[in-house]
Amino acid sequence: MAFRVLIVDDSPALRGFVRRVLEISGLETSAVFEAADGMEALETLSREWVDVILTDINMPRMNGEEFVTQLTKSARLAAVPVIVVTTDGTEVRQEHLRALGVRGYLAKPFTPEDLKDEVERVMEEAAGTCQFYTF
Ligand SMILES: [Mg+2]
Repeated sequence: MAFRVLIVDDSPALRGFVRRVLEISGLETSAVFEAADGMEALETLSREWVDVILTDINMPRMNGEEFVTQLTKSARLAAVPVIVVTTDGTEVRQEHLRALGVRGYLAKPFTPEDLKDEVERVMEEAAGTCQFYTF
């Protein structure tokens, strides 16, 4: 299965880094979109379907937490798995993000294998809970 991925980060360099790590990881992608913050990401998602979202937390205009909150309020987007990519790896932080609806977590620095494993894990989890995949 080839994934459609959305990378959300206010740093163009970090978006490029995540994109390259994604390529190196061996995960098959059919489309990779980029957005600089939550607002831009929601705009992209209004016209493009993606299978998984990789998002930063600290961003101007709309940060990662607000972005995830907006996603969970949307009937169309609530089921899209979100993986947070951040330097803040504390457990309290992780629990807080999971409570908001975040499915996965990648602490920087991470390897291509870490990224591949986490994307595959959340996609399997999503497939297990989504009616559309079970026929
Ligand atoms: Mg940032």
